[in-house]
Amino acid sequence: MRGAVLYGPRDIRFEDRETPKIVDPGDAVLRLAATCVCGSDLWPYRGLQQIDGPTPMGHEYCGFVEEVGSAVKSVKPGQFVVGSFATSDNTCPNCQYGYQSSCIHREFMLRAQAPFLRVPLAEGTLVPTPDGAPPDDIVPSLLAASDVLGTGWFAADAANVKPGGTVVVVGDGAVGLLGVLSARQMGAERIIAMSRNEARQRLAREFGATDIVAERGEDGVSRIRDLTNGIGADSVLECVGTQESMMQAIHATRPGGFVSYVGVPHDVTLDGAKLFFTHVHLHGGPAPVRRYLPNLIELILNRNIDPGKVFDLVLPLEQVAEGYRAMDDRRAIKALLLPQAA
Ligand SMILES: [Zn+2]
Repeated sequence: MRGAVLYGPRDIRFEDRETPKIVDPGDAVLRLAATCVCGSDLWPYRGLQQIDGPTPMGHEYCGFVEEVGSAVKSVKPGQFVVGSFATSDNTCPNCQYGYQSSCIHREFMLRAQAPFLRVPLAEGTLVPTPDGAPPDDIVPSLLAASDVLGTGWFAADAANVKPGGTVVVVGDGAVGLLGVLSARQMGAERIIAMSRNEARQRLAREFGATDIVAERGEDGVSRIRDLTNGIGADSVLECVGTQESMMQAIHATRPGGFVSYVGVPHDVTLDGAKLFFTHVHLHGGPAPVRRYLPNLIELILNRNIDPGKVFDLVLPLEQVAEGYRAMDDRRAIKALLLPQAA
């Protein structure tokens, strides 16, 4: 088969890779219906995160079970499944507390920008759709559940979004936009999206944003204070991972409010004394997507939510390099890749 391999800054190639097979008895091999490029893939793509030689890319996936190992009983060949970017046994104490992305047996997925994918811990990681293969038009939304939607949902949950609350979302990438959608689903009354990009502002409004703030940094914080009686928001979702976005999030939160952070941090440092006087709760990390998958799959299959709208570029997998370029240039919010079993 052929799949995506990153060689160095802005050098992503579509080339021959070994077709995955069952290695451990707990594995499944999937034939992917769709995969995509993640905002976090852009860090190594831009050379801002070191790679250790040629690196197969991709960690978002959904598709059909092709084959399972001898220990896998609850997942069967032919089923359509969605899995998280982090594998989990779904039985250890961390999993039982709902933090499957800290499973004691966790592995982070790689290699999903390909027609076939091996998934370890298949029983604990994969969630089948209840009524067999889904209609084609909702495959993008199911793919979104694998990471960006699950992460946006965790961002809203970790920021304690409650009915009637005021929410700020920092970051207008796919995760931030789906944080808006999630906050709306959780009943937030006011949702302020921070974005200066018109197409993204539009989608934020479609997903439920009530206000848009285009300013950033200190100006952005004072706009948020203007909109919240001078005190800040109940819940702030930090969906970027930079020093500026983290400080913007903390300062946009009212004393006693909640900040979630789900963007992988790059050179973020917090000053303890300053943090002390903000009185905010902080809760973040790699999203435990597995916790939310059954509920998200149901919301999608019932067409209550349409998170697949974040994919504004659809390409055959062999054009994966164009997908990275378009996202790097911010011409696309998120690129969907359709594998052709080749
Ligand atoms: Zn576990």
